[in-house]
Amino acid sequence: MQPEPIHLAELIEVCCAAIVANSDHLCALDRAIGDGDHGTNMKRGCEAVSAEGAQLSNLPFPDAVEKIGLTLVMNIGGAAGPLYGTLLMEIGRELRMRDGAEFPLVLKQAIDAVAKRGRANEGDKTLLDVLYPVHAALVSRSSLREIALRAEYSATGTATMKAMRGRASYLGDRSIGHIDPGASSCALLTTAICRYLEEQHLQ
Ligand code: ADP
Ligand code: MG
Repeated sequence: MQPEPIHLAELIEVCCAAIVANSDHLCALDRAIGDGDHGTNMKRGCEAVSAEGAQLSNLPFPDAVEKIGLTLVMNIGGAAGPLYGTLLMEIGRELRMRDGAEFPLVLKQAIDAVAKRGRANEGDKTLLDVLYPVHAALVSRSSLREIALRAEYSATGTATMKAMRGRASYLGDRSIGHIDPGASSCALLTTAICRYLEEQHLQ
């Protein structure tokens, strides 16, 4: 079967729907080790991007991705806004300079920029603990379904970690036993994107 082209507006909608449907759950995760707003923050950011969907579809793909990053920074707020914003803005910038076939490298550069921005490393119980495993799965040419499973498994795995960055780090050892909200939103988005690409027969 021939692969369908990626329709950016559709991809935005599936991401937005995943966050909206799980907003209460993300807030509950954040209430346990933070201030309870992660679901609300992510929903606000996704709805702002969704409102720009038609306009974004008219831009070249890298420009649209960069613009999504800017909208996320301006609308998510909190700690997650600048981090998700950096991720998308860097992916956009890197895509402008590279071939689409180099996507694993594009993603790696963007994840490293997020780590730098948050002064965080893998293992600190943040969204990086989903992003790095997703990148590793891409490099090892895992299927879309395997990448989504890896993201979900990695988010669940943050429960055993002690938070070293962000609000959750104020709890010290008491952060252990809870899933990180940012890791969870990142897994939800990864799963939504993988499912969409699979439906488009892109793998
Ligand atoms: P806030 O903590 O300001 O209320 P959110 O609740 O929206 O912001 O987002 C919290 C999430 O942001 C955390 O679960 C974590 O994944 C991520 N996070 C927070 N600080 C950092 C950091 N310094 N580096 C990477 N990720 C971080
Ligand atoms: Mg919060």
